[in-house]
Amino acid sequence: MRIGIFGGTFNPIHFGHLRMAEEVRETCALDRILFMPTATPPHKKLAGDVPFAQRLAMVREAIAGNPTFAVTDLEGRREGKSFSVHTLEILHREEPGIEPFFIMGMDSFCDIETWREYRRLFSLAHLVVLRRPGVEAPPADNPLPVAMQGEFCYDHAAVAYRHVSGYKVFFLCETYLDISSTQIRQLIACERSARYLLPPVVEAYIDRHGLYRAGKGSSERAR
Ligand code: ATP
Repeated sequence: MRIGIFGGTFNPIHFGHLRMAEEVRETCALDRILFMPTATPPHKKLAGDVPFAQRLAMVREAIAGNPTFAVTDLEGRREGKSFSVHTLEILHREEPGIEPFFIMGMDSFCDIETWREYRRLFSLAHLVVLRRPGVEAPPADNPLPVAMQGEFCYDHAAVAYRHVSGYKVFFLCETYLDISSTQIRQLIACERSARYLLPPVVEAYIDRHGLYRAGKGSSERAR
């Protein structure tokens, strides 16, 4: 089973996330995409103090009706910070035989050397990296972490870098959507419309629960 693993804070989930998941599913011929909201992100402060349960609920509402999308609460069930390397190990244990494709935007990939045991990530899953507006891509002929370059060769047939483990790193140029959760939170805090940036069911959830309004724990301001 070829499964896309899509981790994120999803604070809130938006059309940028959903479209990239759909395109990766199609381009990489995946059976399923598993959205994995992070409980305690190790790399950034969680804006607005929106609890894991509410971010999970928004993802659930956003993907309802798509039989190829699923969500897991795996990271919410674990103690401490959500390190991807540990999550992938758990997945291999719980679902032996899966072929995982770990999906991320270019901003996350550019930070990967700061991730816990990042070198082991490349031995646990394929990586699928998507361009993101406003984020400069690493040089096309040399995009991998410097400390690991001897561990890869370019696979022309697969259009990917192959790691010694056999897993590959794919760089995809799919639809370029300049949408971020930060922008949505800022709009809502300023009582402005976030319509057409995220699914209406998620917008309704945010409204019902009064999330991201000014004074709800977020110090973000609109640009
Ligand atoms: P925030 O604005 O709060 O930092 P975000 O919009 O980056 O949030 P996350 O949930 O942190 O959303 O993102 C999860 C993953 O999806 C990350 O790897 C991120 O790079 C990627 N991602 C999010 N939005 C886009 C987008 N519009 N284009 C490409 N990648 C994206």
